[in-house]
Amino acid sequence: MTTTRFAPSPTGYLHIGNLRTALFNFLIARKAGGTFILRIDDTDAERSKPEYVAAIEEDLRWLGLEWDRLERQSTRLARYEAAADELRAAGRLYECFETPTELDLKRKKQLNMGRPPVYDRSALALSAAEKDRLRAERGPGHWRFKLDHERIEWTDGILGELSIDAASVSDPVLIRGDGQFLYTLASVCDDIDHAITDVVRGSDHVTNTATQIQIIRALGGTVPRFAHHSLLTGPQGEALSKRLGTLSLRDLRARGVEPMALLSLMARLGSSDPVELRTSIDELAEGFDISHFGAAPTRFDEQDLFPLTASYLQSLPLSAVADRVRAFGVPDELAERFWKVVRENITVLDDMGPWWQIFRDGAEPLVDDQDRDFVAQAFELLPDPPYDDTTWASWIAAVKEKTGRKGRALFMPLRKAVTGRERGPDMAEVIPLLQKKPTL
Ligand code: GLU
Repeated sequence: MTTTRFAPSPTGYLHIGNLRTALFNFLIARKAGGTFILRIDDTDAERSKPEYVAAIEEDLRWLGLEWDRLERQSTRLARYEAAADELRAAGRLYECFETPTELDLKRKKQLNMGRPPVYDRSALALSAAEKDRLRAERGPGHWRFKLDHERIEWTDGILGELSIDAASVSDPVLIRGDGQFLYTLASVCDDIDHAITDVVRGSDHVTNTATQIQIIRALGGTVPRFAHHSLLTGPQGEALSKRLGTLSLRDLRARGVEPMALLSLMARLGSSDPVELRTSIDELAEGFDISHFGAAPTRFDEQDLFPLTASYLQSLPLSAVADRVRAFGVPDELAERFWKVVRENITVLDDMGPWWQIFRDGAEPLVDDQDRDFVAQAFELLPDPPYDDTTWASWIAAVKEKTGRKGRALFMPLRKAVTGRERGPDMAEVIPLLQKKPTL
């Protein structure tokens, strides 16, 4: 049974990088008919905020990435305590008392001597009496997991065969001096208890994976399959980190990006599969294969989302957008016609607004000087509304006969005068939507 999880910390809004992680885990579970868990990593009570939890849920629902189960780390502290006891009993967890400044100094010394800045394990040599003294002086210590100094190996679903020498990594801190369980321990306990089979996350977690594999084994758990996706960069390969604020999912939603456009791009970007618009998540899941993704940084250009959004909108029947069409004030009896005409001429749904305004109130006519008399004459030949499917053809015939103009010289000035724009829907379809006779 495939079980995956998306495990955001509720310390901010989800952005495009988080979406990649959420989506890959979701698609793996969906394709296998398995379970997708939303896990809120909220052991940091100070930085975790309820409003971010709500926002994460809202953003995922907007995208249609519904979870089968919700878990919160803050409700599982007793489990983490029990796991810590187990590791202590096995001699794998030891108390340390160095202050951040002392640790910093040690690191600098090691670097100066050309050595990797790995924690020197001096706390392992402390006697019980020395620990009592330090505890009395400095308060409770923090707790580190004692790594086995072996080579930790795994086959990564994206990066292939990986191995990390445990001796090149500091023993990870699992519990802070103030008693707070750190992500590493909590995450491992959860992955074991929730029977997670596949973990997909960003490549910044590769080193964590090595240490987590040892902790999972120490706790008697089964090691899941891991896959680490590459870093997302801007279109020129530039770091996205500073811009992630404006690439939050809510920001993209506010700019009119449609969920299926976003999902279609992100489910394929960075893989050997082409980006194609899909109109359902199941279709995306079907063609999804984590092994098709590459290790190289993935270039993301938010502009790519807009043509996909436009194509998606073009594919929609009125029923999918009826509420939005109504919200722009389009009367129900015109809605079908209106949507059929405008959906080909918008990028985001909000672009409907200006079109409806043109049809309802008339446009500010766009008329070149040399066309002014021609347009005035043409408008005289147009009757009052209501107009129908035959109006354009009969009007154009009358104008042609009266003025002798043909082709582009006939159509273009009329389009510009009626719609105020140089491009737009077929004029034969525009005219029946006009609620007022156009005037100069
Ligand atoms: N809360 C962690 C993060 O956001 C989860 C990482 C993981 O998937 O294990 O980085």
